[in-house]
Parts: sequence; structure tokens; C-alpha cells
Amino acid sequence: MVQFRKDNILDRLVIVNDSNNDDDAKENRDRDRHEEDICMYCPGNEHLTRPAVLALVQKDGMMRRLADAEDNRIDDWCVRVVSSSNPLVSISANGVYSNKPFYSEPAYGYHYILIASREHCKPSSIPAEQWSNVLVALQDRVKWLYMQKGVSYVAVYMDYNARSEWHPHLNIVTFPYMPPLIEQEVESINRYINESGSCPLCNIVSMEDKSPRHLVSIDNFTAFCPWAPTHPYEFWIVPKKHAIQLLRMTQKEMDELATMLRVMLGGLHNALGDVRFSMIVHASSEKSRKQLHWHIEVHPRLVDNHGLEDGFGVHFLSVSPEDAASKLSFASRRELAKIVGIT
Ligand SMILES: [Zn+2]
Ligand SMILES: [Zn+2]
Ligand SMILES: [Zn+2]
Repeated sequence: MVQFRKDNILDRLVIVNDSNNDDDAKENRDRDRHEEDICMYCPGNEHLTRPAVLALVQKDGMMRRLADAEDNRIDDWCVRVVSSSNPLVSISANGVYSNKPFYSEPAYGYHYILIASREHCKPSSIPAEQWSNVLVALQDRVKWLYMQKGVSYVAVYMDYNARSEWHPHLNIVTFPYMPPLIEQEVESINRYINESGSCPLCNIVSMEDKSPRHLVSIDNFTAFCPWAPTHPYEFWIVPKKHAIQLLRMTQKEMDELATMLRVMLGGLHNALGDVRFSMIVHASSEKSRKQLHWHIEVHPRLVDNHGLEDGFGVHFLSVSPEDAASKLSFASRRELAKIVGIT
């Protein structure tokens, strides 16, 4: 059973997945266990995952978008997208919709893993050119997913657990409706647009441009520590011009964003060392007319005390975003200088 449940009081969304006895899940676990010493994401081991729904292959100066056949796996990929072997949601989810006494429904959705590197490395050492390839693959998949039935939102995120070098990868998970935090951001942004006629994030971008929280700007993108972050050293990467979907980015914008990702993740590593973090994409849904100026949030996970956050929704910061920014901006500018060849 894989199920969405909603809290009766708060509408909080929970995925319950106890499909431990499913044949599919069992087969995947057996395969993972069997191959413990062999990395299923390494080139040459493509047969250990589900067939790639997308494999980007560079050939004769051209980037080709290919897909695996069941009995013919592509091994010269630079980015590979496969169905997760431990999916959070499932397109074969079945079960009943129930509203009484509690709300539940089958957790219908797609869960893909985008393997962002052929080598074992840290996300901070992915070169900008490779981030461009990752963004091409991401755009391709997100576009395809929004064309599928039962997909109202495509959530994209990376969880990096530090201290272990593996293949950096993104999760792409779909939902049949807007996830609660996106709904909240969309609602408050649209209320602001209706009341003041302008987008709050556009305003924030221009205010943060010269603030003590500003980090780095590259052409169409800027990075800053937000005024009231939820995590110490949290930063956002935001398109300077109003844009609601990363799907509509041009190749030039993707290259700029790729440089930004390299500079900021490299900067985070320069500033704090090998730390855990989550990188989250917040964008509008292709299936809703309500806008959200899209952005990437990076949440370093430096503290283990969660009582105040979990129990009261109040975040405590031991570092002001201004102090965090002065450390991060120095470190990320150093990374930028390295990339453009200034030492
Ligand atoms: Zn590997
Ligand atoms: Zn905007
Ligand atoms: Zn956000």
C-alpha cells in the first residue's frame, strides 16, 4: 500500500508506504542487496537499474536524447534518468479514496532519479558544463511529466548527505495536486500580486541586489541569503526577471544557471566544508494558472535540534543571514574567480 494521508486538523500531507511485501519492491531490494558491493549507478552497470527513460549522450559535438531498451542499455551517457528502485509514489498505486473518518488516497505518481555524474563525487565538484547537461535532462523530463495524466505538480530536489562520495542525483517526484508548501507560496505570492500589482520575489531580487545578504549575480541570475531563512547559511538562486517555470529557460539561461550552481555549491563547500544540504526547486505548476516566480532554495542541515521547528513552526538561527552571506559571498566569489580563470 502506498497512500497519501492528510491530517484532519492541519491538512498536512503524509506519504505512507508499507509496500514491503510487494513483489516489485522485494525484487528491487533483493537486487540492491545482491549488488551491495557493485554500484548500480556506475557506467557499465546500467543493467542493474530499470531501463533509462532518458540517457543524454554526447556524440560528434551534438547532445543526443536517447532511452534504454530492456535488453540494450546505453553506457556512454553523461546524464541518466531512471525510475527509482525505492519509489515514494507509484503509478501502480491502487486503493480506495476515503474521506471519513480520515482522508486517504492512493499515492499515485512518478518517481525518477536523475543521475548527475558518471563518477562518484560531491555535488560541489560537478563542473558547470555538466550542470548544463543536467538541466537539459531535467527540462526534458519535467516537460514530459506535465503531459501525463494525474500529474499536477513535479517536485525536484537533491538531498546530499555529506561524508560519502556517490553519484550526485536529483529526485523527481510527481503529485496529483500541489504540495502544501508550494500551495502556501503560490497563495501568498498571488495575494501580494493582486494587492500591489507586482511580484514580491521580483521586488526582493531588486532589494537584495545591494543588500548585505547579496552573494553573487551572473547575468540573469542572482543568489542571496533570504531575510528570514529557515536554516543557517540558507541561500536562494533566483532568476532576476520574472519567470514562472524553469521549463521555459533558454540554453543561454541554462548555461548561466549551471555556472551559478557550480559557483554556489562550490562556495558552500569552500565556506563550510562537506555539509549536508537539500537543494529544492520551487516553481509554478504547468497545470495551474497561479504564478510562482521560480527559484532554487539550498538548505544546509547543520543542526540536529528540531523541537522548536517541528513542534511550533519557529526556526532558530545561530548565524544571522548577513554574517552567513559575508562568509558565503567571499567563498563563492573565490569559486567564480576560479571558473573564469582569475586567480
Ligand atoms: Zn557508482
Ligand atoms: Zn517575479
Ligand atoms: Zn520557495
